[in-house]
Amino acid sequence: MAKLSMHETLPFDEETSPPPISTGELPDAGHLRDIVTEAYERYRTNREGSVADYIPVLGKASPDLFGICVVGARGRSFGIGDTETGFSIQSVSKPFVFALACDQIGYEAARRQLGVNGTGLPFDSVMAVELNAARTVNPLVNAGAIATTSLIAGDDAEAKWAAVRDGLSRFAGRELTMSTEVYESESATNMRNRGIARLLESYGRLYFDPEEATDVYTRQCSLEVTVHDLAVMASTLSNGGVNPMTGVRVIGPGVCRRVLAVMAIAGLYELSGDWLYEVGMPGKSGVSGGIVTISPGKGGLATYSPPLDPAGNSVRGQLATKYLAERLGLNLFASEPAEAPPDPR
Ligand code: GLU
Repeated sequence: MAKLSMHETLPFDEETSPPPISTGELPDAGHLRDIVTEAYERYRTNREGSVADYIPVLGKASPDLFGICVVGARGRSFGIGDTETGFSIQSVSKPFVFALACDQIGYEAARRQLGVNGTGLPFDSVMAVELNAARTVNPLVNAGAIATTSLIAGDDAEAKWAAVRDGLSRFAGRELTMSTEVYESESATNMRNRGIARLLESYGRLYFDPEEATDVYTRQCSLEVTVHDLAVMASTLSNGGVNPMTGVRVIGPGVCRRVLAVMAIAGLYELSGDWLYEVGMPGKSGVSGGIVTISPGKGGLATYSPPLDPAGNSVRGQLATKYLAERLGLNLFASEPAEAPPDPR
């Protein structure tokens, strides 16, 4: 796989700059604005990657679109760039629907029925189903995601769809609606997902009718959001499952931290390990160009820019997030040495 400039060296020295430790709070409003603006300006002119077009309508998105938004766990927010542009949520919906499923059936039952490990394979892999005895490996690749949607409570497809739309709307703090254009384009070309659903059914690892489950999943992926919506959704996961803008508890705290664990394992397709190595936070990307990243206790970060790397992750989104993880001190694995302990002798 071609490595893009995600792997550039950042312009500050990790050994001498203030330690980017993950405890504490986001910087004050002025610093936050300055640092997010720096990230935006730094990557705005990047021209790498290509816009997804395997779902035909996605190919119409301008490669110039770029927006960043941060929403703190106490509801403070700052956005820059194309923050008002609507786009389909695509795979960024997956951790949130997994969260709803966990909330309904319990996170241990969800682990048994869906799995929580990485596949190491592309998001739409059939081989991942064939090669793993459990068939679904995690809820963030298509097989596990369609199975997750099939688990959502509801006697028929309409009831399941209402539960998905309502739950994702509670994460976003406003009523989300589906883009009919995206839904029709994806429905006309989603034979592979329908095949995956049939395959899961054959192994007894789908929990609803395969055609209908795939259809609800396709509607879910067609929900229209802005980068601000995604940042609010991410901030809810950073805040123990309570939406900081509305005060509504969307999921329980135990579910919330398990969702973040799965995002850390599998959020950035087969580059999830590279992401964790560089960014040190759970995230989830989608093929329309969105990425959400969660700094537990601090806030949610979202980026939107359609050009993708070969795995399906937004190029500018990864670069900006990596920059912000360092500059805002968000990396969960960063620590400062304690004061030297007293000599025990
Ligand atoms: N709806 C898309 C699909 O099933 C989602 C892909 C993605 O964003 O990873 O192919």
